[in-house]
Amino acid sequence: MERTKICLCLTGKTLEEDLAMIDRYRNYIDLAELRVDFLDYDERLSLRHFPERAGLPVCLTIRRNVDGGMFVEGEAARTTLYARALAFAEQDARKNYAYIDLEDDFYVPSLQDAALAFGTRIIRSYHNMTGAERNFRERMERMRTTGFEIPKIAFMPQSLTDVTNVFRESRELRDMDHILLAMGNMGMSTRILSNQLGSYLTYTTCADSEQNLSALGQIDPKTLCDVYNFRLQDDNTKIFGVTGWPLKVTDSPRLHNSGYQAHGMNSVYIPVPSDSIDNTLTFADEIGMQGISVTVPYKESVMPNLANLSAEAGEIGACNTIVKHGNDWNGFNTDAYGLRKALGEFLGRESLFGKKVAIIGAGGAAKAAAYVVKQLHGRACIFNRTVSKAKKLADQYGFKYAPLGPEGLDMLEYYSNLIIQTTSIGNGCFDQEPNDTNDPIYFYNFHGHEAVYDVIYKPSRTPMLQRAAKAGCNVENGFGMLTYQGHQQFKLYTGVDYE
Ligand code: NAP
Repeated sequence: MERTKICLCLTGKTLEEDLAMIDRYRNYIDLAELRVDFLDYDERLSLRHFPERAGLPVCLTIRRNVDGGMFVEGEAARTTLYARALAFAEQDARKNYAYIDLEDDFYVPSLQDAALAFGTRIIRSYHNMTGAERNFRERMERMRTTGFEIPKIAFMPQSLTDVTNVFRESRELRDMDHILLAMGNMGMSTRILSNQLGSYLTYTTCADSEQNLSALGQIDPKTLCDVYNFRLQDDNTKIFGVTGWPLKVTDSPRLHNSGYQAHGMNSVYIPVPSDSIDNTLTFADEIGMQGISVTVPYKESVMPNLANLSAEAGEIGACNTIVKHGNDWNGFNTDAYGLRKALGEFLGRESLFGKKVAIIGAGGAAKAAAYVVKQLHGRACIFNRTVSKAKKLADQYGFKYAPLGPEGLDMLEYYSNLIIQTTSIGNGCFDQEPNDTNDPIYFYNFHGHEAVYDVIYKPSRTPMLQRAAKAGCNVENGFGMLTYQGHQQFKLYTGVDYE
């Protein structure tokens, strides 16, 4: 079976915009899909010569609203546009459309005959924008009325189990050209690992253009090739990744994949947004993953699934890294190492002796923070919404605890030499003024003497950090922690130092 082709979906309002998108990514793509439904009305009249102008194979698609597209003018208008695009076929096939996408329920014999006569391959597509699909072989055999058609099934997974099933069932499709993908954030692995699925092509988008298809899980061709090493993936590629939910913002793929590239390793690291840690582990076994970074909210729930846990992860009570040894998953915690190293750089000292530290939060990151503060001989108070969790963590290290709110203000004033923010509040809050929903210590007025470390790194300054910086505090975000904990994970996954 041939390698999966990279197809760029053209979502411009004009043909000129679409040509500019092709030129931008020409070295990264094998073909382009002209999405006529995105074009301004007048532009649709000039479809016929687009393949010649594009200078690479083009698929013609006029996607209806019901299938996730923008076309609402009805089937008669659509048929006329298809006919216009296929008319006056040239002997030089490069001047004709190489592919035409016709939905499963759209049968117009004259269009099909015209396509077949001039070598335009039909992609026979089926989309389910709201639910999951199974039994792909059976459905594709029904969709393929001639061997010349490429059946395509795209659906919206409701659980990672639906994505796992795509990989499982794809083994039965090896002998036929087909396109199979799960849409949305959860289905992103079916786009990055589409070679594993034997999919004829994978769709990509111009992610920073005004109209794009990122919401469907498409990524831009440069990221697919440069970050995810798409062209070099093969049956021997080792697969790693990061799991969590909703996992919307993560820099881990960039960090790990550039490490593999720097060391010339045949490995790829993918995001695995998952609705449960059990589903992640089943998915990982199905596709043969060798190591997984575990993030919110699974750092604790992953632990019962492990054959072995490192002493440090056991003491911290949270695991952010699992590595496959034989059939077993072994767990580690690299957050503590990352935070210790990042804090050392931020404060310019190794010890917290004599320092009074506020740890905001009592989840996985807070557990690593409490462990580090203890190791560095600091004294701390844990502040958390759920006070019982703050107490439990504080008791483990002989620290104080308090509620996270105005009732805890006096304690926060006292433990304010260093404030380590570890809740998820502020994560993803770009360009927002601080308020009581995006700033976990909105009730506290910074004096300017505090050192403030927020483990969140996107945005680079959370609303809380903005407020602290404005008051003159020394502030830092969690990018250093992410980087250093990632370096240690890299070593655990590959046995090699990151740098
Ligand atoms: P976690 O185990 O789920 O803990 C979440 C914490 O946030 C808990 O203390 C929780 O309080 C608190 N929280 C969540 N929503 C809240 C709300 N609306 N009001 C008050 N408190 C709230 O998550 P985690 O693993 O510790 O991660 C927390 C954050 O740290 C995430 O944003 C993660 O991305 C970041 N992180 C960064 C790094 C890095 O390398 N830079 C490493 C680890 C984590 P309750 O106990 O009351 O629910």
